[in-house]
Amino acid sequence: MNKSGEPVLTPVSASIISGHYEALDKIGNLGPGRGFLRAAWSDEESAAMRLIEDAALAAGLNSRWDAVGNLIVETPGEFPTWVETGSHMDTVPGGGNYDGAAGVVAGLQALLVVHASGVALKRGLRLRVWRCEESSTFGVVSAGSRAAFGLLGSEVLGNVWQGTSLAHAIRGQGGDPRYIADGRPSIPASERDGIAACLEMHIEQGRVLEAGGFDIGVVSSIRGSVRRWVKLKGAFDHSGATPMGHAWRKDVNLAMAYMQVRLDELIRREIGAGKDIVQTIGVVNSNRHVNETLPGFYDNAVAKVSGSGYFSHEVRGCRADEVREFVEQAEQTIRQTAEEFGITVVLDEFSQLAGIEHLDDSLQTLLGDCCRMRGLRHTTLPSGAWHDAAVVSQVQRGDRRKIPVGMLFVPCHQGVSHSPAEYASPEQLAVGATVLADAMLGLAV
Ligand SMILES: [Zn+2]
Repeated sequence: MNKSGEPVLTPVSASIISGHYEALDKIGNLGPGRGFLRAAWSDEESAAMRLIEDAALAAGLNSRWDAVGNLIVETPGEFPTWVETGSHMDTVPGGGNYDGAAGVVAGLQALLVVHASGVALKRGLRLRVWRCEESSTFGVVSAGSRAAFGLLGSEVLGNVWQGTSLAHAIRGQGGDPRYIADGRPSIPASERDGIAACLEMHIEQGRVLEAGGFDIGVVSSIRGSVRRWVKLKGAFDHSGATPMGHAWRKDVNLAMAYMQVRLDELIRREIGAGKDIVQTIGVVNSNRHVNETLPGFYDNAVAKVSGSGYFSHEVRGCRADEVREFVEQAEQTIRQTAEEFGITVVLDEFSQLAGIEHLDDSLQTLLGDCCRMRGLRHTTLPSGAWHDAAVVSQVQRGDRRKIPVGMLFVPCHQGVSHSPAEYASPEQLAVGATVLADAMLGLAV
């Protein structure tokens, strides 16, 4: 903004956003009503990234790729520090074209309107297009951004999707998986230490903004998660000859039903006591991979008391201590119920991501000011979903300080996401991109 508090940038145009989407709609499109599939480190993900790179280069920006294949787009010139934005181009299978891509397109346009304004910058502007934010292909979330900062464990390289290992997929797109194998960041420490701030724009993936008539959401915190498989073993017995009751039956299916109801009662109590957490049992006996690793699982039958089964248990919250405390309470509930039913239980934790309790306060203020300057309706809200911004906010620079990170949400149609029906209009995205541009400029002059 100028001295009288008026915007200096031309707003990002909705028709330019539409233009990018016309091209993006063709990449990884599974057909009418079937959504998109741009898997991590796939040809489709790379093609979508190259589309952004080509548009950036044509408009006079610079580009390069880091060691594992994340794309970097920058304003020209040498700068000691940089203001960054970033999001991802991969999708879940059958997902939409806005989760991730919206933030990348907005980031590109934000750089372009600042570049076109001719305003002299003290800091450069940079867009990172991260690989593999979604966990649905290789079973690992935010692999690209975590690899950039050396925060990705080497064990994920053996993860397989559609017959291809993650290491092989990375190599197939020109990246070098040895960086991950060695725990070496895919960007140099000097580049990491030059990041002055990072902002990510994303679709909300919820209904708060649309229902409230808001143009923009300023994100206050990001929920992390703990995920486990709860594997249960009872005894297969004849369904007709075995009398009813715990003394006779070690019935896994019945125990699972009780566990689910008791876990629901438990979280209701904890939410009533003020905890900000959510819990989901997303899978019951229906994950192909777990089915194959659980001995006896396919011995379940209509005429038997069930002897084997499992479910997933996910807990999410912004405060890692609240999440961990609840996970322990839930474990107690699960173990007590198992004991009552005479069955054994194995808890197998396969993923944990600490939530971000507070995104940077001054960036939240800046984003709010940018909304006011443009006369936009905005509100502050937590993010229920995980984002690459959460990874960046956990990075420690060489000066031992964390990178300040902010996020803004734009509304999406009925809050739908990870679905072919996912949609945000070019106008809504242009508004978000304009606020992103104003905020990045504010940090760079
Ligand atoms: Zn996303």
